[in-house]
Amino acid sequence: MSFQSLGLSAPILQALEEKGYSTPTEIQRKTIPAILDGRDVIATAQTGTGKTAAFVLPMLGRLSGERKRRAKRFRALILVPTRELGIQVEDNIRGYGKHLSVVSMCMVGGVDLEPQKQQLIEGVDIVVATPGRLLDLAHQRALYFDELQMLVMDEADRMLDMGFIDDLEKIIARLPEQRQSLLFSATLSPQVRSLAKNVVETPFEVSI
Ligand code: AMP
Repeated sequence: MSFQSLGLSAPILQALEEKGYSTPTEIQRKTIPAILDGRDVIATAQTGTGKTAAFVLPMLGRLSGERKRRAKRFRALILVPTRELGIQVEDNIRGYGKHLSVVSMCMVGGVDLEPQKQQLIEGVDIVVATPGRLLDLAHQRALYFDELQMLVMDEADRMLDMGFIDDLEKIIARLPEQRQSLLFSATLSPQVRSLAKNVVETPFEVSI
């Protein structure tokens, strides 16, 4: 099976070719078509399986249409447990999106707030964030969620292990109800399932 048959567009296929990736991994084969279709997804997959591209590629596919950016608004949010993972995920977005005009930013702790606020004012499409920093900026009215179309929770089990449940619930409560939501986790513990209940709607479930 090829990336082409999964329904990805030419600029994304070109970036994959330049990276030397010719065959989608199992998690990518299973999730990409459902995500491109607009389905909510719960995916159980460990790091190293190609899970980042499994949500980044179809996200880029869905967001690539030209759209005017509005200050402090964005169309997709990826929540991650750590600063390191955030940097890594955003690096993937830049790589796979190099032939698209999609703008992303990484909103994690340990980085000055001011440049992040400025970036938001200039307009972005995708925000990769740790929950605490995102809420900080939301409380400061540096960002609004009214244009959000897609939410990804990456490593949901780790976010719960790290005690982010209250922050996550506060964020979810602010999001538009009409949206696509994806939850990726290495394990599906009862805690993750209970979080998922508030996040995804009649999800397509994938486990590898
Ligand atoms: P991840 O599970 O997202 O941490 O990805 C693990 C590694 O696999 C990363 O270095 C990716 O760049 C790489 N990767 C992702 N998808 C593919 C693919 N289809 N073929 C080869 N390598 C891939």
